Amino acid sequence: MITQEQYRTRVKELLSSGTVKMVIGYKPGSTPDRRRPLFIRTAEEANRLVLDSACITNLSGYLVTEGLLSDEKKVAIFLRPEGIRSINILAAESQLNADQIIILGFDSTGSVVKTLDGTHAGDFSELLGSIKQNSPVKPSEVLFEQVEQMTPAERFAFWQEEFSRCIKCYACRQACPMCYCRRCIVDSNQPQWVNTSSHTLGNFEWNIVRAFHLAGRCVECGNCGRACPVNIPLRLINRRMAQEVIEAFDHFPGLNQTQEPVLASFKKDDSETFIL
Ligand code: SF4
Ligand code: SF4
Repeated sequence: MITQEQYRTRVKELLSSGTVKMVIGYKPGSTPDRRRPLFIRTAEEANRLVLDSACITNLSGYLVTEGLLSDEKKVAIFLRPEGIRSINILAAESQLNADQIIILGFDSTGSVVKTLDGTHAGDFSELLGSIKQNSPVKPSEVLFEQVEQMTPAERFAFWQEEFSRCIKCYACRQACPMCYCRRCIVDSNQPQWVNTSSHTLGNFEWNIVRAFHLAGRCVECGNCGRACPVNIPLRLINRRMAQEVIEAFDHFPGLNQTQEPVLASFKKDDSETFIL
């Protein structure tokens, strides 16, 4: 276990030694239970850091900010298990060079477990191993079971009602570390693949397209659901897709950097001849 003072000292060492050019962590938010991202460039700023159970946002998406890692200097970042999984997936998808990342891994209580080079993100076994075993039943999971018990017609009506509130703000996309495309399909208007109007059919298209795009890649960090201004329970869709991928491909994404993206890889002897 590392105390608050010890991890601040660690951050100061990383910056004052020139090991990293920036540390990405958390600072107090607008209410006592909220935290905001903090981008630290000098050792003095480390005293502004906080780390506790309210630090729930997955910060890994900031690492794919255009130009941040282009100078080959290193960045350190505080990450919970979901964020560590994101690093593994982003590295496997060639979106970042894990050599340039130093991970300060912490658990749900806000305790730093250890510091590791990004290339060894799969070695956080004490954090990654706890994901499936220790997750308590959350209200969203109770709702997940309720939705699972519905008939197809009831489930369709449920999602129709939920998606009718979507305002197409794309906050879910912006908050998602795995939604890194510089130009999203919904921003294309020649041709326009997805209707941009905020009506039920267009909202279905958007949310289903996004769910498929995240299949086998979502780390269930919850950034999207927390960002949604109308509280659509997006976690339910992501969790359902994650289950489908586990059942169909025995694939739990983000455990290491050698896992191939499950829906973006193929074998020459796959039975579906259309691939060749
Ligand atoms: S889809 Fe949502 S839960 Fe999944 S990785 Fe993106 S932000 Fe996190
Ligand atoms: S954040 Fe919510 S309202 Fe905005 S586009 Fe996503 S699902 Fe729709």
